Amino acid sequence: MINFFKVDKIPEEYDFLDIMVVDIFGRLKHVTLPKSYVSEKTFKEGIGFDASNFGFAKVTDSDMVAIPDLSKIFVEENEGMKIVHVLSDVISPSTGKFFAQYPRSIAKETLKYIKESGIADDAKMLVELEFHIFDGITFKTGETESYYFLENDEGLGYEDNQPKTYGSSYHLNEPYDIHFTLRNEIVKSLENAGIPVKYHHHEVGIAQHEIELNFMSLVDAADNVTLAKYIIRKIAERYGLYVTFMPKPMFNMAGNGMHVHQYLEKDGKSLFVGDELYNLSELALNYTAGILNHSLTGSLLSWSNPSTNSYKRLVPGFEAPISASFSKGSRSAAVRIPGYLSKADTRIEFRTGDGSANVYFFLSAMVLAGISGIEKKLDPVELGFHSKGENEKVFPLDLRLVMKGLKDDKDYLKTFPEELINKWYDTKMKEANLIYSIPVSKEFEMYFEL
Ligand code: GLU
Ligand code: MG
Ligand code: MG
Repeated sequence: MINFFKVDKIPEEYDFLDIMVVDIFGRLKHVTLPKSYVSEKTFKEGIGFDASNFGFAKVTDSDMVAIPDLSKIFVEENEGMKIVHVLSDVISPSTGKFFAQYPRSIAKETLKYIKESGIADDAKMLVELEFHIFDGITFKTGETESYYFLENDEGLGYEDNQPKTYGSSYHLNEPYDIHFTLRNEIVKSLENAGIPVKYHHHEVGIAQHEIELNFMSLVDAADNVTLAKYIIRKIAERYGLYVTFMPKPMFNMAGNGMHVHQYLEKDGKSLFVGDELYNLSELALNYTAGILNHSLTGSLLSWSNPSTNSYKRLVPGFEAPISASFSKGSRSAAVRIPGYLSKADTRIEFRTGDGSANVYFFLSAMVLAGISGIEKKLDPVELGFHSKGENEKVFPLDLRLVMKGLKDDKDYLKTFPEELINKWYDTKMKEANLIYSIPVSKEFEMYFEL
């Protein structure tokens, strides 16, 4: 049994200090120090590490320093060991400053930028995590060193994967909701670790589940999504189960989105409530237009949907939005205004993004897109974004196209260093070119005998 506890400061007694750093893809990497090695210096000056595998640093300049963020600690008790986990910031030793490309730095700078703009003093986010739980699946190294194929017990390829489960349906109940107890244990662990949850349930697809976190400020939301993904996987793995947040693990079945409900706040009050369309304020409509505008160029999608697999989810028929549209209640609109809210709680939900995103980049880029809409006073109705279910402006639905969109539309990304944008472009283009160059089994079926 693993137990988690939220703590306010480093406890007197523990066995290990686990320093966690976020890589360019949003994954947590870690180095673990026995308590005997930890001193005041560890917290003041940080601990040096080789960042060459984090996707940022050049191999010739790969030394970085991780500085523990003491407001982000929680304790794990596991098999008699007490481990203090701490999320960290990163300092570049060559400049002595916070590394500007580091995901947490960008999210923090974004929050600062919003405040300094005078438009708002906080951006509140509620993130929904959709994922699949697979059992009986083994990971095998595929044809290239860095990519993996999923295989099941029968040795079928990933496209044929069928997890063991008793059914699929939204909000499926026991006894068919076979991972109900597991989800309870996961959510209890999340809450104990200090991550507030709204609710959890079975999702539409076979073996598909959802956990929604509660509203929090941008940086906390990104931190907590990152930690939640880690904790969800960690608990499931103890039962021999594999969790994936990948956007479309199975052909022709519901994919995994990462929807974000959001509003801007000033002096503790939402700026999104008003008397315009759907009880939104004019500012909320401008913000919505900004998000949809920068999605339509592909630029925002390059952060919210940054994998080739993302575009296998963004197809019609699975409640995954494919066009720059907003509407009340509609699950096929990229921006939905939830229909079940009282006026005072009016907010918007961006439904396009998915769990292959680095959530720090995704949330930051999305808010900056919204802010640019406010600054330019964009009207989403005039821009043709108000969804009537027809003549909708379809997104570029291909990783290479959205990366080109990023190159052409990046001025709104005020807190993203140019070097990171170029690195993201190169990394993702390489990824797309690799994936598109691998023959898939369906191609054999369709083209073998031509
Ligand atoms: N799974 C759907 C998606 O890919 C969303 C279903 C829902 O509305 O919860 O975005
Ligand atoms: Mg859902
Ligand atoms: Mg949703």
